[in-house]
Amino acid sequence: LQGLTMDYKLNLPAILRRADQLYSRKEIVTRRPDKSFHRYTYADFVSRAKKLSVALKGLGVGEGDRVGTLAWNTYGHLEAYFGIPCAGAVLHTLNPRLHEDDLAFIANHAEDKVMMVDEPLVPVFEKFREKAESIQHVVVFNYGDGADLPDWAIPYEELLAGADEGEFEYPDPDETDAAALCYTSGTTGRPKGALYSHRSIVLHSMMSAMGNAFSLGPDDCVLPVVPMFHVNAWGLPFTSALVGAKQVMPGPHLDPASLIEDYEQEGVTFTAGVPTVYLAMLRALDAEQGEHDLSALRQLVIGGAAVPKSVIKAYDERHGIEVIHAWGMTEMDPIGSVAKLTLEMKELPEDEQLEYRAKQGYPTSFVEVRARGDEGIIPWDGQAMGELEVRGHSVIKKYFNTDEGDDKFTEDGWFKTGDVVTIDEYGFIKITDRSKDLIKSGGEWISSVELENALMAHPAVAEAAVIAMPHERWDERPLAAIVLNEGETVTDEDLRKHLESDFAKFWLPDAYEFVEEIPKTATGKFLKMALREQFKDYTPS
Ligand code: ADP
Repeated sequence: LQGLTMDYKLNLPAILRRADQLYSRKEIVTRRPDKSFHRYTYADFVSRAKKLSVALKGLGVGEGDRVGTLAWNTYGHLEAYFGIPCAGAVLHTLNPRLHEDDLAFIANHAEDKVMMVDEPLVPVFEKFREKAESIQHVVVFNYGDGADLPDWAIPYEELLAGADEGEFEYPDPDETDAAALCYTSGTTGRPKGALYSHRSIVLHSMMSAMGNAFSLGPDDCVLPVVPMFHVNAWGLPFTSALVGAKQVMPGPHLDPASLIEDYEQEGVTFTAGVPTVYLAMLRALDAEQGEHDLSALRQLVIGGAAVPKSVIKAYDERHGIEVIHAWGMTEMDPIGSVAKLTLEMKELPEDEQLEYRAKQGYPTSFVEVRARGDEGIIPWDGQAMGELEVRGHSVIKKYFNTDEGDDKFTEDGWFKTGDVVTIDEYGFIKITDRSKDLIKSGGEWISSVELENALMAHPAVAEAAVIAMPHERWDERPLAAIVLNEGETVTDEDLRKHLESDFAKFWLPDAYEFVEEIPKTATGKFLKMALREQFKDYTPS
């Protein structure tokens, strides 16, 4: 027997239509490259997204074509987020921090037909323009009159000026049609494409707005620090448009001082990014204690890499800001879990609460998790470790246009994340490592993440990354690469003492190496592959 409710399609045009009808007066604020602020309303945004759709069709973009973007978080990029899918095409965001050969590979693999480039990123695009063979038109989001752009560029404002909004009609694509494409950053092999459907993005937006995730609503003001080229800024532009939140786009200005100014001036209630950004911001806030009013900031979500307990505590105690830990992957569109405490947990002593807040948390709605150890699926006892497997509405079932990575799916269709976890009785996930970063010493596992978090809790330490070094007797032993806070000095012995009380003796690193910086991936995570390379011929001094 069929239910008698409507076959209303969950697609991106439906989100835009809602914004069009309900949120016209809400504001969207962007930092331009020259640091000045651009302000307009949702009404302007919707009107321009519609014009972009019309203009793209005029350029020959058709159903299912890929349109690339190489842009910071800006109003223009937001227009592309909706304008491209509303033209029936697929929004393909490229990460300008990647190497030019990777960018060329990705653009060619995706067969991007049009590329939309933020004006300050034109030099990045120039480096792979000639290698990207499928691109027929290049549109540049211009901030001036566009007169000094290269002759191959179509100034965005000119493109929009030539489009007639009256020609726009809301399309109604099938939920399962492709809407957006993101490539993994290639830390585990060649970049591979995750192709999201309209349904996946709509459900992800609803799921992330829920109380057990980001609790977002129309009284929020959202500033995504996480770039729109990194898994769609964790879906925040879509979620914000769905719930009618004010949006603040930082443009290329991701330094702590600019962000703090944005937060204060615009009354930001919700912000999100990777730990490296918030480690730097913490140092800035500590140095300027009491000078800023961030009382509007309700939630600071940190994800993409593990957030040390010490950081959660420091934001709490020194700045009255609640840090919420989240985990996700490009292959999941991307949010997979959020560490929101239950009432029961909130009654525990503070340090126990902190233990839970530093875990990666509950799976979000309609994401299912299980983990597999050597002897099969592990129990949820917070002790047993295994590789996390997931399934759900936004998890990919295959990579785009390749059979590479087919081995990441189990026979019964779950996705193998490569993350090694424990799951506790509440269903809270704790990532102990990426499988390739775990250290195996004398047959026992050592979690690099736990050592790093403990080291970063030392007041002299700014950043710490722990890697495995080959060892004749034990197979592998941990080496810690340490970046100190300015003006600080510590000895190996100090760090050893600092760790001793919390870890088994065999966990303690054999070596501490003080370095200027830890190499980072294009998304701001520690690039352990490069660190391992750096120390491959290491002999302790
Ligand atoms: P990449 O594989 O290129 O790093 P993603 O950005 O998709 O691309 O990263 C996903 C991975 O990042 C996860 O599989 C996990 O290892 C790591 N990760 C994400 N969030 C967290 C977190 N909160 N804690 C620990 N690791 C995380």
